[in-house]
Amino acid sequence: TYIIAEPCVDVLDKACVEECPVDCIYEGGRMLYIQPDECVDCGACEPVCPVEAIFYEDDVPDEWEPYVNANADFFDDL
Ligand code: SF4
Repeated sequence: TYIIAEPCVDVLDKACVEECPVDCIYEGGRMLYIQPDECVDCGACEPVCPVEAIFYEDDVPDEWEPYVNANADFFDDL
């Protein structure tokens, strides 16, 4: 899955939402989240993010690793 990290906070540009072919990017309180069970790893969202907040899960910078769980947990709490 792809995940959204800290640069999205309070930005929520949503360019990624327009690109996602399976509509698996959802708006949370202060950022957008990718539903990991729905993401098909197409990568379309990553290059359109103006703040480079989107990463493939294995490529998330160490400092933002907690966002991998944060994306999944957001949907567990719904
Ligand atoms: Fe959607 Fe593709 Fe991005 Fe996954 S990688 S969130 S399917 S646009």
